[in-house]
Amino acid sequence: MSILVFIEISEGEIKKTSLEAISYASNIESGVTAIAFGEASEENLKVAGKAGASKVLHVSDDKYNEANIQAYASAIAKAAESEGAETIVLANSSLGDPVAARLSIKMGASLASNVVAAPDTSNGFVVKRSIYTGKAFANVDLTEGKRIIGIKKNAATIKEDGGDPSIETFSPDENADDFKVKVLSQEKASGDVLLPEAEIVVSGGRGLKGPENWGMIEELAKTLGAATACSKPVSDMDWRPHHEHVGQTGIKVAPSLYIAVGISGAIQHLAGVNASKCIVVINKDEEAPFFKAADYGIVGDAFEVVPKLTEAIKAI
Ligand code: FAD
Repeated sequence: MSILVFIEISEGEIKKTSLEAISYASNIESGVTAIAFGEASEENLKVAGKAGASKVLHVSDDKYNEANIQAYASAIAKAAESEGAETIVLANSSLGDPVAARLSIKMGASLASNVVAAPDTSNGFVVKRSIYTGKAFANVDLTEGKRIIGIKKNAATIKEDGGDPSIETFSPDENADDFKVKVLSQEKASGDVLLPEAEIVVSGGRGLKGPENWGMIEELAKTLGAATACSKPVSDMDWRPHHEHVGQTGIKVAPSLYIAVGISGAIQHLAGVNASKCIVVINKDEEAPFFKAADYGIVGDAFEVVPKLTEAIKAI
């Protein structure tokens, strides 16, 4: 079996979630091939080797610098063909998900997203998926034909003991349709840290009373190098921008640390954050449902607790 891993580049470096995808793939088969698009130095691409890639195909043509889903899917399908790869592994992300969907149509491949465990290959190829926003799991049989596997964030441990991969330039033959949709520009939403990829998220709810009180959330986030987020009512009331809203109807996040301030912990909010590795809840009501999902809880007034917490962290 030959495996191709689609790796995402952000600001010239391989994203952590893509290193997880390479590590996942190299546990199935040693020496996998990775494919990357856009600007990245050879030194940065070689990091893929540590995670288990023996070869990196680099699509370095300027046309691929802006994430173009159609063009990426087409190029990955061509790379899979030239590499004889019937299994594609990628990270579930705002880019990986639409690429995977188009790729599955192009390759005629089955697709399993939000995979959380190594495949069971004892009798075919069965993967475990997280479903219903993390409330249940499904085992999916991908034994037949080509397959695409989307890895849920934090589901695989990044390997660091791999070798030095070869880096090859890959120039896919373009189809007329590949660049039908033209990405003219991309803008960073706001903040220094992008919410979907943040390792730490500081999130505020209606308990903060109004937009004028968000300074302490931003200060704590800045101190921790975190992204800011909010509950749905907060964005509905325009206290915060809509792209910060997390939950069932907002962005799903899975950071290493999620700090919830003045958020009750409604099931719809939890649906977007319950994959976080560690949840800290700050709420003045000890009966708030969020405490049941928390790893650590502070019962107290956010207006007293958050500034003290920020000062304590700054003092470390
Ligand atoms: P509240 O429920 O009002 O909770 C405020 C909390 O702040 C309380 O627990 C209170 O004790 C605490 N508090 C108050 N003052 C302080 C203080 N000084 N210090 C500390 N704590 C304090 N919600 C989402 O977030 N995301 C979603 O994606 C989402 N999707 C939804 C989809 C549907 C179909 C529906 C019906 C609802 C959805 N909701 C979603 C709304 C959800 O049900 C809750 O209403 C919402 O999450 C509550 O937001 P909140 O916790 O900020 O506010």
